[in-house]
Amino acid sequence: MTTPIGPACGTCGDPAVVHWQRRLTPDEITDEQAKEQARRSEVLTAHDQLVASVKDSPTPVPLPARPEFGPLSDHADSTNVVHACAKHAIDRDTAARIHQAGCTGCDCTPEPLPETDTEPEQPELPPGW
Ligand SMILES: [Zn+2]
Ligand SMILES: [Zn+2]
Repeated sequence: MTTPIGPACGTCGDPAVVHWQRRLTPDEITDEQAKEQARRSEVLTAHDQLVASVKDSPTPVPLPARPEFGPLSDHADSTNVVHACAKHAIDRDTAARIHQAGCTGCDCTPEPLPETDTEPEQPELPPGW
């Protein structure tokens, strides 16, 4: 048993050699949103402390506006990385696609690849070009 230096295979824990992307599970999305929420409240707390610290200042202190945040991301476009060792690797075509949430070693059906834009047609060149 060697100590893995890099990421470990999601199936057996051996050092990983390949990886692919997967969607976030509902739990991971909740986690991410909680982290974002915590970050936002830190920013707001810092802002409120700043406001409080200059409240009694004899001269008016210009204050930045209270930060406003939009709605939390639903992480629909976020991905996490799945790692695998050579034994549990999937083929490259499958690894190029985004896998379902919770995919660890691939027993899922990956999303189809996005349509690739076809090369724009080259304009016809005059003879000699
Ligand atoms: Zn493995
Ligand atoms: Zn998968």
